[in-house]
Amino acid sequence: MSVKTMEDLFVATLKDIYYAEKQILKALPGMVSKSDNAELKKALETHKAETEGQVERLEQVFKLLDVPARGKKCDAIEGIIDEAKEHMGDIKNERVLDAGIISSAQAVEHYEICRYGTLVEWANDLGYTDAAKLLKQNLDEEHHADELLTEIARGSVNRDAEAAA
Ligand code: FE
Ligand code: FE
Ligand code: FE
Ligand code: ZN
Repeated sequence: MSVKTMEDLFVATLKDIYYAEKQILKALPGMVSKSDNAELKKALETHKAETEGQVERLEQVFKLLDVPARGKKCDAIEGIIDEAKEHMGDIKNERVLDAGIISSAQAVEHYEICRYGTLVEWANDLGYTDAAKLLKQNLDEEHHADELLTEIARGSVNRDAEAAA
């Protein structure tokens, strides 16, 4: 699709994050099964359920705009997920792997925070108030997931990983 207006750019970015969320949904089960720390496993599982809700909110946003809900390939998330898989394959120690999984998961969250931050701002600027509210809910969940991962890393995972021989 060609982008001429801010509305076009908004829709293009919406398609980007819609594609990204679906890829994340596919990648999360692998990260859950590779994590060993119970808290980390639970946080990733909870975020998978939240991600399903986020996809639904995005579909509501497409509906509000009267645009078909269709993703557009996001090379950034593909790269972040490929890198996560590569790291998970390289790390042999389970404790170190948990720390690595948190770092990969936070890379995903930061990409999403970046995209949703922009989308909320533009939705408000363009007068899409209802869409902005839905996008803000997704943004808040990403922030929360990111903060929770930081807490888990600081709580035990990083220390356990550093102690691993
Ligand atoms: Fe998400
Ligand atoms: Fe992207
Ligand atoms: Fe997320
Ligand atoms: Zn962060």
